[in-house]
Amino acid sequence: MLPFKLVYSDDYYLPIGAHVFPAEKYNRIHERLLASGVAAPSDFVVPLPATDQDVLLVHTPQYVEKLKTGTLSAREELEFEVPYSPELVRAFWLAAGGSILAADYALNDGAAFSIGGGFHHAFPDHGEGFCVIHDVAIAIRRMQRDGKIRNAMTVDCDVHHGNGTAAIFAGTRTASEPLPSAPTAAMRPSRPARAKMRSSHAGDVFTISLHQENNYPAWKPPSSIDIDLPDETGDDDYLAWLDSALNSGLRQFEPELLCYLAGADPYREDQLGGLSLTIDGLKRRDELVFRAAKARGIPVMVTLAGGYALKLEDTITIHCNTVVAAKEVFTGNR
Ligand SMILES: [Zn+2]
Repeated sequence: MLPFKLVYSDDYYLPIGAHVFPAEKYNRIHERLLASGVAAPSDFVVPLPATDQDVLLVHTPQYVEKLKTGTLSAREELEFEVPYSPELVRAFWLAAGGSILAADYALNDGAAFSIGGGFHHAFPDHGEGFCVIHDVAIAIRRMQRDGKIRNAMTVDCDVHHGNGTAAIFAGTRTASEPLPSAPTAAMRPSRPARAKMRSSHAGDVFTISLHQENNYPAWKPPSSIDIDLPDETGDDDYLAWLDSALNSGLRQFEPELLCYLAGADPYREDQLGGLSLTIDGLKRRDELVFRAAKARGIPVMVTLAGGYALKLEDTITIHCNTVVAAKEVFTGNR
């Protein structure tokens, strides 16, 4: 039995047909976790959909109304890059409910996963890049509304910049350090990544994004810390930058909840990514995040975000490894 819960529903499946986004990945991860013995049936809990009230904590009433009544413009639907349907909207409401439940469990147990979610390209008034509503932001705002937390940190390791996250939480945090310190000389990238720290009003959610600079989205609104990585960044450079960003963020901010977006798409064989991480490097990435949180006693809520490996099996392995990494760290073996 795992020392944390895995929130999952067969209805996480996104009804989008044949698509570069492998909608069946959630189901396949669930199967693999059980078949491999990493998890037992009792480790899983089934979420309910978010309520409209929950969704409205982040999204505009106009946008929610359009989603629910099917009155988006053709352009708004195109921006999703997945086909609009009422079923799609239901799946996203369920993903948001799953992230709310995972956040709740994380606060109780120290960690929890949603075997879904991480839709970090959704903005308050529109969706894009396969993301309709922002499940992680909704979960944070719900925990705050319920008085369970005052502040949170997002650590976004998807290969794509967390533009929706940055926009939603813009202006909510003052950064007091100019930049995360660069990785040690031995680990410094040959083509250095650029770290950017923004400065804004004091507030409640600190956002960290490590991503490939030359990739979608073209417009990257500033996170609290952005690490713009060059193409083909490999394991060691990536891990050095992640370590640096986490240390910098956690020196200046003490979150009551850490929301980790464990995207599988920094993988070297990803179809939509241009970084060069290995499967082993991605697991070490997960361990780094979990150890940083555990060392400081910060509860971690994990969502999966993207993953478009040439071989679906690799995407499944990378996501399952995130659960394995948490199991190893939170049962205290490593
Ligand atoms: Zn991505």
